[in-house]
Amino acid sequence: MELNSLRDLYIEELKDLYSAENQLLKALPKMAKAATAKSLKNGFEKHLKETRTHVERLKKVFAGLKTSPGNKTCKAMQGLIEEGDHVIGEDAEPEVRDAALIAAAQRVEHYEMAGYGCVRTYAKLLGYKQAEKDLQKTLDEEGATDKKLTELAQRINVKAEDPPKRPAAKKKGTKSIGKKIKEAVGLE
Ligand code: FE
Ligand code: FE
Repeated sequence: MELNSLRDLYIEELKDLYSAENQLLKALPKMAKAATAKSLKNGFEKHLKETRTHVERLKKVFAGLKTSPGNKTCKAMQGLIEEGDHVIGEDAEPEVRDAALIAAAQRVEHYEMAGYGCVRTYAKLLGYKQAEKDLQKTLDEEGATDKKLTELAQRINVKAEDPPKRPAAKKKGTKSIGKKIKEAVGLE
């Protein structure tokens, strides 16, 4: 990779975003599935549709530059999704898991907002008017998603603070002390 001009940097950053969006296409359905609150589930599903549009807009920008998105992997998005995956895998109260999913999703949105803010500005500086408009549209949608998540958090975080009482879930792999002792002395 050679970065000799702002245009080179612009393309590199676009490739990074292209990878990030494609990773999200795979992650968002899992996040929707893991969410308990209907509003959060719907929010993830809506953003999945928007994310498909984000990928299409990026393809259009690449076509305008007569270059391809390549197969760069956005490591930052990989890490953010991995952290979100941990949340999904935890043994958690549904309300607390929802709050954690919101936190993971907002990190993702902020990462995208930073990326799109940069490329939109580069497009403007480079005089790519249509790309500037398209990238701004995506930036606006990421911003709106972040705001929506903040709204949802206002209700969901309160519920997470005081989840309804349920019988304590038995944790996988935890044995009672009695059972451990019995096993240790060969009784079980
Ligand atoms: Fe996006
Ligand atoms: Fe997004």
